[in-house]
Amino acid sequence: MPSSWRTITTQKDGECRLCGGQVPAGTEVRWHPTKGIEHQKGEHTADIKAEFAESTAQREAALAKAAPVAVEERPKAERLPSGEAKMLSKYAGSTCRVCTQPIVKGAEIAWIKGKGARHIECEPEDG
Ligand SMILES: [Zn+2]
Ligand SMILES: [Zn+2]
Repeated sequence: MPSSWRTITTQKDGECRLCGGQVPAGTEVRWHPTKGIEHQKGEHTADIKAEFAESTAQREAALAKAAPVAVEERPKAERLPSGEAKMLSKYAGSTCRVCTQPIVKGAEIAWIKGKGARHIECEPEDG
C-alpha cells in the first residue's frame, strides 16, 4: 500500500505524536510529512507506555461506568415475631450468636440489631 511514512534520523529534538515522549536529535524515527514523527515500533518508553495503557484503561472504565447497570432487586426481609429479620446471609465470615458456628454466605439467618445473626434453626435461649 502507498505510504508517505519514511524512516528518518531527527536533526533536532522533537516529540512522539503517539506517546508524547521526547525524541532527541539523532533518533531514528518514523516520519510523515503531515502527521509528524513517532518512535519506531516498540521504542516508546516503558513509563509512557504504562501511562498510555492506563489512560486507555481509564477511558474504558469510564465507558463501562456510563453503561446502564441493571438495578439489583433487594428482597424484603421477613420479620419474625421475635423482632428479628429473616434473611439470607450476604457475607461469609459471620458467626451464629447461638451456636457460635460460622455462617456461610447464602445461609438462612435471623438478624437483629444489637444482637447479631443466628442460624434460622438455632433457637435463641433468651427468647
Ligand atoms: Zn512514542
Ligand atoms: Zn447456629
